[in-house]
Amino acid sequence: MNRKTLIVGPCAAENAAQMAAVAQALKPVLGDSSAQGFDIVLRAGLWKPRSSPATFQGVGAEGLPWLQDTAKQLGIPPATEVAQPEHLLSAYKASIRHFWIGARTTSNPFMVEALASTQLPDKQNIVWYIKNPISPDIELWCGAVERLQAAGYEHICAIHRGFALGDSTTSIYRNAPMWSVAIEFKRRYPAIPLLTDASHIAGNAEHVATIAEQSLRMGMDGLMIEVHPEPQKALSDARQQLTPEALSELLQRLTMIAVNQPGNEQNELSALRQQIDETDDELWALLRKRIDIARRIGEYKRAHNIPVLQNERYNELLSRRMHWAEEHGIDPQAAKQLMDIIHEQSVLRQL
Ligand code: PEP
Ligand code: MN
Repeated sequence: MNRKTLIVGPCAAENAAQMAAVAQALKPVLGDSSAQGFDIVLRAGLWKPRSSPATFQGVGAEGLPWLQDTAKQLGIPPATEVAQPEHLLSAYKASIRHFWIGARTTSNPFMVEALASTQLPDKQNIVWYIKNPISPDIELWCGAVERLQAAGYEHICAIHRGFALGDSTTSIYRNAPMWSVAIEFKRRYPAIPLLTDASHIAGNAEHVATIAEQSLRMGMDGLMIEVHPEPQKALSDARQQLTPEALSELLQRLTMIAVNQPGNEQNELSALRQQIDETDDELWALLRKRIDIARRIGEYKRAHNIPVLQNERYNELLSRRMHWAEEHGIDPQAAKQLMDIIHEQSVLRQL
């Protein structure tokens, strides 16, 4: 069984008593056999990059000893988020060797560069976890990886935490998973472990399990999950943090998935893959046929001075396709995204 990484702990270290309660509550959960298949790391944010300055901003360096103590009691390494060289230096001095770069920081190459170029003596003992940037811009994510690699760091992992698309009304999740971006990251960096931050994607404790299970089934290398002794009293991300009991229950389900991978159904799998390849061949042949027709429509429109873009016609195509998708159990928003790409290619071909 492949060992997976599990980064668990509260969104933020809030005070000494809360971190002591974290140690007490996680001890039995992490000691349980269901946690044995994971390499576990304790998380707690000290410097919190909160959108609004009116909210809890983290306790800063004051919380370092609480994090150290809790990790020591649990016998696992501590991790915290760093955004500035001062964060990195003070956490490093407190013997912390696991650092994550938050989504807002990955979005800013100046900040990533400042972290990468901070001089630390034993880079080979440091593990970096780089979250994807806020927007689905894979180049920013890769850029952050490359900056840390260029600075001489060898232990680099990535964390998929979803993307803020500004349309939370159309999604049940806080951050859109957009798995295609994570899959593309994995394709570009097959050797870099890719974890899923199920809590920040879900945004709601109720949906954490779904995202976590999907991730492991997909073959992701681990998970970040927020857990708090009393989630309803948490100073940040109260809605999405699991209780220790919920974490324990989830770990049992996740272990089943991890243990059952990679499965004995290899023959059936290759037969199904063969079918996928054949279906893809047909799909692409059809796409080529569609583009050919679009080219002929383009010639007709040019000859008759008709503008290429016909809004009404596209609206009609789109709504028919989205209704069809819904009836057939396909996410209409996904159908729209696909249709938008196909239509854009048609428009370009007509031009
Ligand atoms: C966090 O891990 O608490 C956090 C702030 O995450 P993100 O950078 O993914 O928003
Ligand atoms: Mn959080």
